[in-house]
Amino acid sequence: MRELEDKIRAEGKVFPGDVLKVDSFLNHQVDTAFMQKIGKEFKRLYENENITKILTIEASGISMALATAYCFDFCPLVFAKKGNVSSMDTSSYVSKVHSYTHNHDYHVHVSKNYLKKDDVVLIIDDFLANGEALNGLLDICEQAGCKVVGCGVAVEKAYQPGGRMLRDRGVRIESLARVSKMTDDGLIEFC
Ligand code: 5GP
Repeated sequence: MRELEDKIRAEGKVFPGDVLKVDSFLNHQVDTAFMQKIGKEFKRLYENENITKILTIEASGISMALATAYCFDFCPLVFAKKGNVSSMDTSSYVSKVHSYTHNHDYHVHVSKNYLKKDDVVLIIDDFLANGEALNGLLDICEQAGCKVVGCGVAVEKAYQPGGRMLRDRGVRIESLARVSKMTDDGLIEFC
C-alpha cells in the first residue's frame, strides 16, 4: 500500500533494537481516516471469505482492527488481553507470547464466550517481526476450533523470520508495507 509506505517514510522513526515507531498515526496517536483506508484494503484482500470475526491483540492492534471490522459489515472485533489468568480458570483460551519490543514472555487470553467453532476469523496486527504475536493468536484460534482465513498486518519487517515462518506453515499473510531494511540513522527501505 503505497500510501502507508509514504507515511512510514515521512513519519516513522527507527529506534535501537530494530524497532520502528509510527506513534504519530498508529501506535500512540491514531490517524482515524487512515485507519479506514487500511480497513478498506483488508476488505479488498479478504473480500469473499465470509468473515464473522476480527481478532487482534491489545493494544496497538485495536484501532486498525476496529476500522477493519467496520468494513466487514460491522462484524464483532475481539482483542486478546495480555496478562495472566489463573490456571484454575478454564473459561479462556490462553497462549504464551514472547514480546519483541519488551523482550519478555507474557500470556494472552480470549474468553471462550467470544470465539466459537463456527467462527471464520481474520487476524489483524500492527507489526510482524518474528511472528510470536500472530502465532499466539493462531494458537488461540486452534484451541477454539475456528477457521482462520489469514492475517492482515500493517507493517511486516520482511528481513525478520516471522512472515516466512508463518507462510511456510500455509498461513495466508497480507502485509500492507514490507520493510526490507532499516538503519539506525533512519533509513527505511521497502521490498
Ligand atoms: P512479533 O511477535 O512478530 O515478533 O512482533 C510483533 C509484535 O511486536 C507486534 O504486536 C508489535 O506490537 C511489536 N513489534 C514488533 N516489531 C515492532 C516494531 O518495529 N515497531 C513497533 N511499534 N512494534 C513492533
